[in-house]
Amino acid sequence: MFKQMEHAGLTDLHFGLDPASGLKAIIAIHSTARGAAIGGCRCIHYAREQDAVTDALRLAHGMSYKAALAGLPHGGGKAVIIEPEQPYDRHHLMAAFGRFVEQLGGRYITAMDSGTEVSDMDSIATTTRFVSCTSASGDPSPHTALGVFAGIQAAVRHRLGRTTLEGLTVSIQGLGHVGHAIAARLHAAGARLIVSDIDPDKVRLCVDQFDAKAVAADAIYAVEADVFCPCGLGAILNATTIPQLNCALVAGSANNQLAEDEDGNRLRARNILYAPDYVINAGGLIHVALHHAGIDGEQRDAKIRAIGDTLTHLFNEADRTRQSVHHVADLHAEALLKAATTPLSEQEHRHA
Ligand code: NAD
Repeated sequence: MFKQMEHAGLTDLHFGLDPASGLKAIIAIHSTARGAAIGGCRCIHYAREQDAVTDALRLAHGMSYKAALAGLPHGGGKAVIIEPEQPYDRHHLMAAFGRFVEQLGGRYITAMDSGTEVSDMDSIATTTRFVSCTSASGDPSPHTALGVFAGIQAAVRHRLGRTTLEGLTVSIQGLGHVGHAIAARLHAAGARLIVSDIDPDKVRLCVDQFDAKAVAADAIYAVEADVFCPCGLGAILNATTIPQLNCALVAGSANNQLAEDEDGNRLRARNILYAPDYVINAGGLIHVALHHAGIDGEQRDAKIRAIGDTLTHLFNEADRTRQSVHHVADLHAEALLKAATTPLSEQEHRHA
């Protein structure tokens, strides 16, 4: 277990058990160097308890990177609730999880993830202050969409030298909460849309509302477009799909878009600019973190739009050092975390 923790770079791992509610939960904390760890809570079925631990360990460090590059005063963590096999009372389960979070005294702030809803966060909020994504803060998806839109603008400026999206073609994969909101923004900005989703109702809505052209789910990779915007599944940039791409840049909300690290290099080799997923999709996290700190409105939106500036910085750095953008992003996040853990005296000594 400690080997696994060391490999994942975690500082602490917590197990919570409450037989009365059926709670079996794990909280993995990667870093609190920049502030309280923040990250979603999954509640899904796991075949083996070890799989739940592995999931928490695997996902925590990504949250530290995401929060650091979003400029938030937070580290990263992740929680997993093993969904009970027997019938259970959802409110009691979540309230028990809230007590577990509360015991950590604010080292970890929980949020929504796969298998949890706003109503679960409301239940958790009955027993802890350290929760976001409650009905008071609302759906993060429109905020994620705002960040992705700002990211697309920055990528288009960098790669195509254009300050407007008017007349550009964007292909969107996945028209759910985020994908539909991005489609609306792109349409309003004068972009032409090509869309796909496995749900025909969502496709029809975009065709009707935004004059989008629909294509079959597996045809979206090869369509000719300026921008490919993945907003559905993870691992969709891989050795099979990358050779099919017919676009200048990839910029979308989906998590874990690269099936493996090498896929970032494959995109670069094809001269396709990639906006790293955890940088461009941080708008929702920025919203929930700032809402938790009592900040909303224009101040929050300005911070979300700054995702575009962060990406521009990473694109320039990748060009200058001839590296893949995803690699530059990781290095940058690691440097921010290291700077936060390095004692001030040592930093001063180094810069002297
Ligand atoms: P969602 O479930 O509302 O939408 C996903 C959509 O993708 C659905 O409409 C689904 O039918 C579609 N889809 C699934 N398989 C597909 C396929 N093979 N081809 C085309 N479409 C397919 O999810 P969402 O909240 O819109 O999130 C979209 C992505 O963005 C996810 O990867 C999510 O992890 C990521 N993300 C979301 C947020 C947020 O604020 N919601 C924040 C950060 C990252």
